[in-house]
Amino acid sequence: MPEQDGADTRCRTPRDATLQAIAAARFVRARWVDRIGGAASLERRQRRGLERLLRERMPRAAHYRGGLDRLGDAPVVDKATVLADFSGFNVRGIPLDTALAEARAAEASRDFRGELPGGVTVGLSSGTSGRPGVFLVDPAERMRWAGTVLGRLLDRRSLVQLVQPWLPPLRIAFALRANSNLYESVASRRLSFAFVDLVAPFEQIRQGVAGARPDVLVAPSSLLVELARAGLRGELGIEPRLVVAVAEVLDDADSELVESAWGVRPRRVYQATEGLLALDCDRGRLHLNEQSIVVESEWIDGSEVVGGRFVPIVTDFDRSTQLIVRYRLDDVLRMPARGQRCGCGNPARVIDAVEGRADEVIEAFAPDGRVVRVFPDAVRRAMTTASTAEWGIRWAPDAIEVAIDPLDPEHARAVRGVLARLFETVGAVLPELDVVALAPRQLGAKQVRIARAHAATQEETADVV
Ligand SMILES: [Zn+2]
Repeated sequence: MPEQDGADTRCRTPRDATLQAIAAARFVRARWVDRIGGAASLERRQRRGLERLLRERMPRAAHYRGGLDRLGDAPVVDKATVLADFSGFNVRGIPLDTALAEARAAEASRDFRGELPGGVTVGLSSGTSGRPGVFLVDPAERMRWAGTVLGRLLDRRSLVQLVQPWLPPLRIAFALRANSNLYESVASRRLSFAFVDLVAPFEQIRQGVAGARPDVLVAPSSLLVELARAGLRGELGIEPRLVVAVAEVLDDADSELVESAWGVRPRRVYQATEGLLALDCDRGRLHLNEQSIVVESEWIDGSEVVGGRFVPIVTDFDRSTQLIVRYRLDDVLRMPARGQRCGCGNPARVIDAVEGRADEVIEAFAPDGRVVRVFPDAVRRAMTTASTAEWGIRWAPDAIEVAIDPLDPEHARAVRGVLARLFETVGAVLPELDVVALAPRQLGAKQVRIARAHAATQEETADVV
């Protein structure tokens, strides 16, 4: 029965009730159940998840026709593989053309309700090189995402507010590139969602966030920084108790700025349109989301040691529309120098940092011609010491272009100095270095500070959420 406009807008269709139940169940699991049983129970969950993926889901996707017995039998895939056989990787057989047409229509109309069969919505992730990645998610998958994120991150006071009928409902504001009408449809008496479209002038975003008066604010890191600055100028007037940074790597400096504005340390959610990959715990350590994914490590430079770096190959047994099986990501992760287990009660492995896309790792040459990799966290630290407020780097193995704002002789000299020192430290020859003025960044565009020069900065949608 369709929902009626007018008097009783709280009337729910059974479908909304089902989605609410999915989100609530996942919330309970992420908050309490996942802590019980330690590593053994986590291993059991992974085994059951993989079993279901191999037996029930993969046989429905044409790419895995006939099914496979073991995860190790599945080939490692990447964005290009998936794009080449798009309909083969999703259980509904949706072709790439159809998905792209739907994504373009939604971007143009800013209406992301999902016109594909089963309410499936399309996510695009352009990254910094090549064609955009295209991803499909259905409403149940999005509810599992929301339930997990809130279950893991919600502060105690917000939880009390959520369950006490005499308190006002908990207000959650999402500032994202793609609308999440879905959440509005499953809001309840205890929970209200506001969506602020990121593709708008900042003034409009500021008003939207201020008007929502959120208890919980979810936004990409670069926008959180802009909002925190507005807050410090006294132009926002919100007091969120939980601030969640999504879609982009959050620098320490950005994190401190957000904390100075609202007095809470922002919590990090590391995700790609490929899924929910890691969340930080209340001790500030970033746990792989091993309750839903299996991560294999492709070690860089044979560095399988403490503090080593790797490219993750992800199998996500929570994804039920588009299958993510041994999918090689574009990111580089770093293992901690000390123990991988954390005392917070979550048995999932801890990673030290997400160092961004593999494209952000600058490849240069040693004097003897060997390739030397310069990691983004080192570049970020170096650039911080040059005290340029805003910067971006485009690199090729023989040339680096650094864009800075403000551009003046003093800052340009400082940048040249810190990069020369950095390259010398890592044993690389400093490529030809060009310092130019930084073009203003479009709001809503993903913050890509370091990228390979063969592709322009592109955007990333976060509409998997
Ligand atoms: Zn922890």
